[in-house]
Amino acid sequence: MLHLHDTALGRVAELPLRTPGHVSMYVCGPTVYDEPHLGHGRFTLVWDVVRRYLEWRGLQVRFVSNITDIDDKIIDRANREGRPAAEVAQQYEQAWYRAMDALGVRRPDADPHATAYVDDMVALIARLVDAGVAYATTDGVYFNAEQVPGYGLLARQSLESLRAGERVEVVEEKRSPIDFALWKNAKPGEPEWPSPWGPGRPGWHTECVVMALDLLGEDFDLHGGGIELAFPHHENERAQAVALGRPFARRWAHSGHVVAPGGEKMSKSLGNYTSLTDLLAKTDPRAYRLLVLQSHYRSPLEVGPATIERAERSLARFDELARRVELRGEAPAPPDPGALERFAELMDDDLSTPAAMALLFDLLTRANAALDRGEDETAGPAAAAVLEIGRAVGLEPRGPDLDIDDEAARLVDERDAARAARDYTRADVLRRELEARGWTVQDSTEGTRIHR
Ligand SMILES: [Zn+2]
Repeated sequence: MLHLHDTALGRVAELPLRTPGHVSMYVCGPTVYDEPHLGHGRFTLVWDVVRRYLEWRGLQVRFVSNITDIDDKIIDRANREGRPAAEVAQQYEQAWYRAMDALGVRRPDADPHATAYVDDMVALIARLVDAGVAYATTDGVYFNAEQVPGYGLLARQSLESLRAGERVEVVEEKRSPIDFALWKNAKPGEPEWPSPWGPGRPGWHTECVVMALDLLGEDFDLHGGGIELAFPHHENERAQAVALGRPFARRWAHSGHVVAPGGEKMSKSLGNYTSLTDLLAKTDPRAYRLLVLQSHYRSPLEVGPATIERAERSLARFDELARRVELRGEAPAPPDPGALERFAELMDDDLSTPAAMALLFDLLTRANAALDRGEDETAGPAAAAVLEIGRAVGLEPRGPDLDIDDEAARLVDERDAARAARDYTRADVLRRELEARGWTVQDSTEGTRIHR
């Protein structure tokens, strides 16, 4: 069974299932106020791999991930652009799913929207007020974190150090600097919902606790997210459930940050990708998945043109093997069972995907060598294991002869000829024509490359 590093325990532990054979997972989704960035791509890929792997192991997974469609950042953008907050949220939710679809991140089984859960959130806040752990102030309702046993579990810090870490708060009515807002009273012109404490909107931390409990039930198996959410977001989700005596997530797991090569902050001037949309426009989306897999999910991930290019070259070898096997036209051999067993061992060990990918490419080299020597008995099971492992983590082979039609191939050739003749105007026309036919067009050292 899968073992993951549990942030609350501070060590790797088995995922203990509430119901044998079933996995219930909640992953915090986006606040939809801007184009998705590379960090979004990474965490969605990590949890997509977990989901796919568990299913590959024969488990039934229920995967819930929310859309935060009401938030200060959405309101700020709406005000700046002079349009309704709902319109901003809708636009960036579409951008989100476009990018996720391109990445091959499967859509959640449920994607609850915060605005559809306001009544439930008001009810939960009212229960917290009744229980004496939340209190109303002039600007909203706050949660008294000091009263919750084990507060600081996910931050891995004591109450004292958390208090010391808080900046001087402008809200003087807060009883403790670590208290957080459950309900924010609306300012004039802001979107608002009715509540016993006046019109306003719910805080972000209440959203996830209400939706996770509603859609997955108490004591669900796994709560995931990016590491920046562990504190305060997940700490505060957990605190609300604990305060009401409701068992919440059994396990908490977090994925790491994205950094530019050399650990530098991502920025345009370094020649890096400015957003996930930008990266997807320039590369084979599978390259980002492979890059994510080749780094351990808890380590910082270096993303830059060089790492992406390396991943693309590896994918070319993967595609090439699939083509070689397919061209042989024989009935596929069953995958080498020893290789699949080893793969499962690696994945179960806190998702050791770098080792699992090393295994995949080692098998790939062995399959190619055996094919070269005409040793089909060795080549077949190794090649089949390569494709099976790829499938388990969401990597499917692609080949130009598999899905590029004659007309697109002709346009690609014509565009390469135009570029060789330095006729960039013509090359641009041909790029647009390919794009109009639904292809993503990239320039590489070997010429024009296209994919859907
Ligand atoms: Zn959340």
